[in-house]
Amino acid sequence: MKLQFKCQQCGECCRKYSGGLTASAQDIMRWRREKRSDILKHVLPFGVNGSLFGGELWIKEGEKLERCPFLRKKGREASCAIHDTKPGVCRKYPFNGVRVDLRECKGIKILQ
Ligand code: SF4
Ligand code: SF4
Repeated sequence: MKLQFKCQQCGECCRKYSGGLTASAQDIMRWRREKRSDILKHVLPFGVNGSLFGGELWIKEGEKLERCPFLRKKGREASCAIHDTKPGVCRKYPFNGVRVDLRECKGIKILQ
């Protein structure tokens, strides 16, 4: 199967999956180096390999959020407020190794 991918910036993946993201050790080291306490406050060490980024940790002014607080929406276009340093799992979507139905992503064109 051949695929073509060009993100359409619809933000659907962020809306749908941002409740359960993980941050890698590299993500965390980078955020520490960049002094991104605004991002690090959403990280919780979990298990041996990873850290949770999101879910129960999406809290703003004491209120639990449904989705990633870095998702910005303007009209039909969505963008990521931390695009330059977003976690690898977001950077690699929809090819991030997590089982994803590729038809869910508007940016994927199945060629054959
Ligand atoms: S669902 Fe696909 S096209 Fe839409 S923002 Fe995510 S990666 Fe881009
Ligand atoms: S960090 Fe950015 S790309 Fe990842 S879920 Fe949040 S808004 Fe989407």
